[in-house]
Amino acid sequence: MERDRDGVVPAIREWLRSERRLGVSHWVTPPAGSERAHPPAQPAASPATPPAPVVHTAAPVTPGLFIQDPSLPPLCTRELSPSEAAAALSQLDAACVRGCAKCRLHESRTQTVFGVGNPRPQLAFVGEGPGADEDAQGEPFVGRAGQLLTRMIAAMTLTREQVYICNVVKCRPPGNRTPADDEMETCGPYLLRQLAILRPQVIVTLGRPATQTLLATKAPITRIRGHWGEFPPPAFAGVGLPSAKLMPTYHPAYLLRNPAAKADVWKDLQEVMRVLGLKVPHSK
Ligand code: URA
Ligand code: SF4
Repeated sequence: MERDRDGVVPAIREWLRSERRLGVSHWVTPPAGSERAHPPAQPAASPATPPAPVVHTAAPVTPGLFIQDPSLPPLCTRELSPSEAAAALSQLDAACVRGCAKCRLHESRTQTVFGVGNPRPQLAFVGEGPGADEDAQGEPFVGRAGQLLTRMIAAMTLTREQVYICNVVKCRPPGNRTPADDEMETCGPYLLRQLAILRPQVIVTLGRPATQTLLATKAPITRIRGHWGEFPPPAFAGVGLPSAKLMPTYHPAYLLRNPAAKADVWKDLQEVMRVLGLKVPHSK
């Protein structure tokens, strides 16, 4: 990764700049060998009171068909090696997703956008659906919001190649509208099959549609953001989906419109880093 003169990764700087403006003192850990100290803007905020447990009720989907769609290959029920997982993902994409016309979104897409990254990651990010840039390039999160996500990943001391990135729906909703519930319900079985192959330790859901889909909840994102959830949720239990800790956070497109919310998202990402055993940039 490119580093600037001070040994600080530029992408991390950019991501952190707005937190500094907010007075949130998150500083980059100097790379090994660098003596540079990063003075804090102010003392770190004391940890928030422990979050209240989130109760997920009202499942938005019918889990039976949602998960065990007879027209699709069964869920992967064992851990695969990275090369086996890469092959299984390509096969799911080529055999099922690429030519899919199961919902109306196929009519206006240029191409499907399956997912990208490490086939057996510790961490997977799930967004909403492709935008114009993703529809043109066939890769998730490559537009403006995607570039912000890339900087968020860099701030976690990770790269796009180390994590996996995908969306709830694989085709661009026209005009970048939010995918409709029935579109997410139709496309969701592909996402679940992806997750059953990937088996990440942590899933970060970006925004309301991904969060509500994977937690089978109608709870508002503002309430459940930053609170660990369990995947699979009770509504999807007993069908062989792998377990993961799930952190709901705001979508990077929302952060582009509301930069002040980056402070909350950075808290969520640091919490994910802690669980993954990654050294959190100190804020002393
Ligand atoms: N927004 C998303 O939710 N996904 C993308 O791939 C790009 C933008
Ligand atoms: Fe198929 Fe999903 Fe595209 Fe709909 S959004 S056509 S279900 S791949």
